Amino acid sequence: MWEGVGGGVAHTAAARLEIDLDAIAANWRLLRDRHPSGPVAGVVKADAYGLGAREVVARLHREGCRHFFVAHLGEALAIRALVPDAMLAVLNGLIPGTEADYVATGILPVLGSLAEIDAWATEARRLGRLLPALLHVDTGMSRLGLDPRELATLQADHARLDGIALRYVMTHLVSSEIPDAPMNQRQRRRFAAARAGLPPAPSSLANSSGIFLGEAFASDLARPGAALYGINPTPGRPNPMHPVVRLLARVLQVRDIPAGETVGYNGTWRAERPSRIATVGVGYADGWHRAQSGRGAAFFDGKPVPLVGRVSMDLTTYDVTARPEIGVGDHLELIGPSVPPDTVAEAAGTNGYEVLTSLGRRFARVYRGG
Ligand SMILES: *Cc1c(COP(=O)(O)O)cnc(C)c1O
Repeated sequence: MWEGVGGGVAHTAAARLEIDLDAIAANWRLLRDRHPSGPVAGVVKADAYGLGAREVVARLHREGCRHFFVAHLGEALAIRALVPDAMLAVLNGLIPGTEADYVATGILPVLGSLAEIDAWATEARRLGRLLPALLHVDTGMSRLGLDPRELATLQADHARLDGIALRYVMTHLVSSEIPDAPMNQRQRRRFAAARAGLPPAPSSLANSSGIFLGEAFASDLARPGAALYGINPTPGRPNPMHPVVRLLARVLQVRDIPAGETVGYNGTWRAERPSRIATVGVGYADGWHRAQSGRGAAFFDGKPVPLVGRVSMDLTTYDVTARPEIGVGDHLELIGPSVPPDTVAEAAGTNGYEVLTSLGRRFARVYRGG
């Protein structure tokens, strides 16, 4: 059963975004079965990759998921009440002045520098009790987490962690979607060396693709995001995940144009023969990337319909010359089983993550399951 939330009435909207929560739950079970060394978290940052953190978190929790990651404290606060018994951690670290919010809500900071460790330990001493946290070690991303010098300092002085209950030591893989990238083994070795010099604590290593790298990358807690939402964690090989998202756009108008006529801004596509053009009400303001102008395709009845001309702010045009059965009120599949987020991404010169997190707020959103 599909259930609508916000965004207008599903059957009259210009576009309908269908999100299958049961498929997300099935994907979580699939990942859990592939990671027997420890539990599998749900990474639900960026509003669960654009699909709705509240709905996704509630569904995953019902499935048995008890560990969640977001990027910002604000994201964690917005979902805390839905999962009061779960571990809920903030990847981007501890911003000074937010300590009391973490303590009051039981949300865990992922500490990524000596300064953050010191701040959290100071708060623990002030309160006179142990405060839980995760520790992030940088093994190659050069983005967040203790760098080698800070790590060495901490390894030589464990007292800096006094007052902190280390729930997990974690690191993040740089190229896990490329199984033979040398960086994978390098990070695995660096992570093992980092942990060896720290007080004993459970480990957290694999993201979605990391779960498919084999046993050497198994840890006490996996942190998949993308694969939950149907993005292929094994690019170049068949996608083991269930499709989660369908974006259906209603055909607003169909027109016949003579040979030689152009379509869209700057006339970047010219009809070589008399053509039929279908216009849908989805554009770059809806996260329908302008970079895919003149590339990519929607699907109708399982067969492709080429995108022609520029994607504009609120509209996109498709060549339906070969498909006389398509008329006003029909729905083209812009994303779905025939044209998954990874395929859309290829036409837009980006990745499936950006396609999903860009999806706009003007669609009628419809959830299945939950
Ligand atoms: C986003 C993120 C993840 C999830 O990665 P996916 O590739 O989406 O599975 C895991 N860990 C960290 C630190 C992240 O930033």
